[in-house]
Order: sequence, then structure tokens, then C-alpha cells
Amino acid sequence: MNRKYRKTVIAGNWKMNQLNSGVKHFLEELKEVAPKTRNCDVVLCTPAVMIQTMVKAGRDCRVAAGGQDVSTHEKGAFTGEISADMLADIGAKYCIVGHSERREYHHETDAQVNEKAKALLSRGIAPIICVGESLDQREKDLTVSYIAYQVRAALAGIDGAQVRRCVIAYEPIWAIGTGKTATSDQAQEVCCAIRAEIRKLYGARIARAVSILYGGSMNAKNAAELLSMPDIDGGLIGGASLKPADFATIIAATAQE
Ligand code: PEP
Repeated sequence: MNRKYRKTVIAGNWKMNQLNSGVKHFLEELKEVAPKTRNCDVVLCTPAVMIQTMVKAGRDCRVAAGGQDVSTHEKGAFTGEISADMLADIGAKYCIVGHSERREYHHETDAQVNEKAKALLSRGIAPIICVGESLDQREKDLTVSYIAYQVRAALAGIDGAQVRRCVIAYEPIWAIGTGKTATSDQAQEVCCAIRAEIRKLYGARIARAVSILYGGSMNAKNAAELLSMPDIDGGLIGGASLKPADFATIIAATAQE
């Protein structure tokens, strides 16, 4: 982390878990155990039907609400889709785009990820742009070049002022939901390469202002070490964000200097 230049962000990704009726209780429990931190944005990215409840209940404990996906379209005949305008209207502050599960199960392309990021930025929502390599790509030593490509594709046509508001989440696909975490050195190497790519595209000032998260089986035990790395500015957390005590421990790990 480097708080001098950029925000620390701890974002939970609830995926298709929890219920709207359980949101308040979850936050009450989290409030009891989580440290009061002012220098870290804590976000819970929930299914769309829970966002409004999260916005209201989260005010009390400084937890922001986030979405997990957004439509590329502004409005109209797109049954089942949710626009950036709708997310902004109910108070979402962040939204995940390009999660590997959406890329895999919904065939989301890099061009769509880019359109989604632009749609969110146009409504003042910070996109959490997920990038990550498969195990096969890692074994073939393609990780850094592939991630650099994904970053370029996701940010195409986005100007520097807007890029500062983006969050990039490095999530190696082989580490998501598998219990296999990248080592802190592996995660640092790729997060550093992401920053280098942003530096090439936008210059040093913007590169050092962008928050880059690690995601992939981050948990209460390994968070402190991952977060001690200079280019890892927080985490995108799936499984461990479903348990208030574990999520609180990860938030507490951001208090280290
Ligand atoms: C995720 O889905 O973004 C994620 C990182 O999941 P997990 O922490 O469960 O690996």
C-alpha cells in the first residue's frame, strides 16, 4: 500500500450469495468487530437487489455499496439489464466489471469491459476492473504480457482524469475460489506491471494515483502479507467477505504502515 498517493480499498464480492433480509444483520456484526478506519474505503459489491439496502444500512458503518456488473447500454429494450444510471440513482459508489466469472460464463469481451467502465465513469461510479491470467497462461510465462493487454483494452479511450478514478483488481483466475493464493511476490510483480502499463499510457502522476487490488483467495490469514506489498492497495475478496469476522480482520490488516 502507499497511502500517500492513493486510496486503500477493501471490496467484498458477495457474488450470488446472502439475502437482502440479511444485509442489516451482517453490517451490525461487522460494525461490532471491524476497526474504525478512516483511511480505507470499505465496499460490499452485492447482487443488484441488495444495493439499496446496503446503501442505507452501510451509512452507519462507513461501508459503501457496489454492484457486480452493469449494462453497456444506457437504457431501452434490454430485458434483465441494469444501467449505470440506475446504479448511480440508488447510491452505488463502485461496480465490478470484467470479473473472470462473467468473462467465462457470459462471454464478456474486453471491448464490453471497456464500455462498462466508461458507462460507470460517466455516472460517477468507480469501476473495479478485473484482470487476470489463467493457469495455462502463467505456466507459459504469458502473465505480464496478457495482463498488460487486458489493462490497455479496458482503459481504451478513457482519459487520464477518469483513469485516476478507476480501480484495477488483479485476480489470477487460478486463485479465485480455489484456496490457492498468489504469493505476495507473485501478486506484487503483476500489480507493479499493471502500474507500469498505466505509467506508459498516462504518465507517472496518474499511475501512482490508481489503486490496484489483489483478489484470489485473500483471507484473514494472508491479507496482511499481501497488503504489505508496495503496489497492492487493497483486496477484492469473495469467500472471506461473507463472514463479518474474516472481512473485519482483512480491513484491520490495512492499518499497518
Ligand atoms: C472474487 O471472486 O473476486 C474472489 C477473489 O473470490 P475468492 O476471494 O473467494 O477467491
